[in-house]
Amino acid sequence: MNALVAPEHLPAILTPEKTALLARLAEGLAPEELYWVAAWSASRAGQAQRGASPADAHAGTATAPRLTILYGSQTGNAKRLAEQLAARSESAGMPVRLLRADAYPQRDLAKESHLLIVISTQGEGEPPDDARGFVEFLAGKRAPRLPGLHYAVLGLGDSSYPQFCAIGRQLDARLAELGADRLAPLGEADVDIDQVAVPWSSKALEQAREALGTPASAARSATVHALPTRNTHSREQPFAATVLANQRIVSRDSERAVHHLELSLEGSGLRYAPGDAIGIWPTNPPALVEQWLQALRLDDAQEVTHGGRTLPLAQWLGREREMTRLTRTFVAAHAAASGHADLMRVLRKENAASFAELLASHQPIDLLRRYRAAWRAEDLVAALRPLTPRLYSIASSARAVGEEEVHLTVARVEYDAYGAPHWGAASAFLSSAQEDATVPVFIEANDRFRLPADDSRDIIMIGPGTGVAPFRAFVQDRRETGARGRNWLVFGNRHFTRDFLYQVEWQEALKAGALHRLDLAFSRDGAEKTYVQDRLREQGRELYAWLEGGAHLYVCGDANHMAKDVHATLIDIAVAHGGHSPDAAREWLADLLTQGRYARDVY
Ligand code: NAP
Repeated sequence: MNALVAPEHLPAILTPEKTALLARLAEGLAPEELYWVAAWSASRAGQAQRGASPADAHAGTATAPRLTILYGSQTGNAKRLAEQLAARSESAGMPVRLLRADAYPQRDLAKESHLLIVISTQGEGEPPDDARGFVEFLAGKRAPRLPGLHYAVLGLGDSSYPQFCAIGRQLDARLAELGADRLAPLGEADVDIDQVAVPWSSKALEQAREALGTPASAARSATVHALPTRNTHSREQPFAATVLANQRIVSRDSERAVHHLELSLEGSGLRYAPGDAIGIWPTNPPALVEQWLQALRLDDAQEVTHGGRTLPLAQWLGREREMTRLTRTFVAAHAAASGHADLMRVLRKENAASFAELLASHQPIDLLRRYRAAWRAEDLVAALRPLTPRLYSIASSARAVGEEEVHLTVARVEYDAYGAPHWGAASAFLSSAQEDATVPVFIEANDRFRLPADDSRDIIMIGPGTGVAPFRAFVQDRRETGARGRNWLVFGNRHFTRDFLYQVEWQEALKAGALHRLDLAFSRDGAEKTYVQDRLREQGRELYAWLEGGAHLYVCGDANHMAKDVHATLIDIAVAHGGHSPDAAREWLADLLTQGRYARDVY
């Protein structure tokens, strides 16, 4: 007789809510990860039976004062910061629990005493997908009064968007409105996150420690990590991955160069799962550094000291500073340095729309060339943002290509504007990387973009352009594991003959039965544009039937236009084929998102 019994056939010990929560947490975990969770649970159960233990103290009861740390994260930054906060709280001897916002039992909020929230804002003022429910709950009528709560919010965002940190601001204001007490002022971290996040974290933790009455002497000597560290190399300590292959995978006459890269992870200890991203620390294009030095008449070898470090100017620019993204700080500094009235004017509050337009359409070099100014090298380095890594969705399954190899798909950003060539930092760096060169990398796990744990589920993958990358990993992986569910890919790009990424592989997968449906939308082949959402609409009945049958739906690619249009199309499909009202259709889709059956990897 089989000793393993499916959880749904076991006598009900957990409430249905806890069962659902557990199922969601387990969704997408690999077998070895599930065994790890089982062992961890057994160890906690043992400790609980033996009586008091540090783990008990950390779990706390609903009434025992403890620190709860919640995060809402789209690209992993808020998660990373929240994990660091939890590890530091533990080291300081504070009882702490760390939760993703969609795993937080909302009824706990009324009993919560100390709460730290780290949350990002997407594009035009949207919350990350994993925090939608929490943000809506808090904004709504059901949110409880919170007179006993001490809290602090760290918002993450990008100041080149008008709705910078809007969600952080909203939560911070709403918690105060509900009667809660701020432990620390709202932190608003820009793309160079640490500049704000580091001091905010120290302040918030110090205040939380005092409010919880944890003596400073409770600090543990060794750092305790709230979560197991899966990877040895990290964002801060990247691995030098060797380039094994770098191939252009669009035709010569394609308007956009797209490259397929294969990197070696040999000896790194880095592991990844389908859905994860790879972080890349780029080097700025040498030709761009040269343009800057010429425009500014500065010497590349000049030594510059900043933040206690001394490096030649060319190195500061090439490896340490953002040269391809314009920021308010830099525009303001250049306005002051050049004394130019146009720049001063665009910075005024009433010209916010023109300013946003300037940020979106220019790089710093354009201002350096148009509005001449004499910059001191030290001031220049201080006015520029530190370089940040870029994330690419992993395009391979370790099961298919081996654990020591990783693939990615890169669209090279390169265009002429204002009389000069322009590049994207990471895409230029990667697409021009020679074989055997090394690239500094780390793995960014993405637990919200996982294949279904139940391999009999169908999956629908919508990935135009390089958004198709993670679906190559999905299809490879399902093929290796012999998953029973069907795989449906909806891909779009500009031209069939030039830009059909991985065409041969998809055709081969169709033939082998590893891909069951492939729908294509080439936008610039006909008189009218055709996009992936047009194909979805045409196949609406079938798509709705797959979803009603339990399929998981994934979207990867551009967040600002494509993902929004696809979202709207899915609602229309539920109205047309599910008989829903528009409101009910919106709710149906929100439900899929909450259940983790509608996942998005968009930016
Ligand atoms: P792209 O050239 O920007 O677009 C691909 C296709 O989508 C084109 O046919 C384009 O048509 C079409 N499109 C344009 N607007 C659309 C809309 N509103 N709805 C549906 N389709 C639309 O593709 P890409 O340069 O490869 O960029 C893909 C995006 O994915 C980027 O934003 C990138 O940041 C993001 N992304 C990439 C990865 C990765 O690992 N590589 C991972 C996650 C996200 P037209 O141009 O003809 O209008």
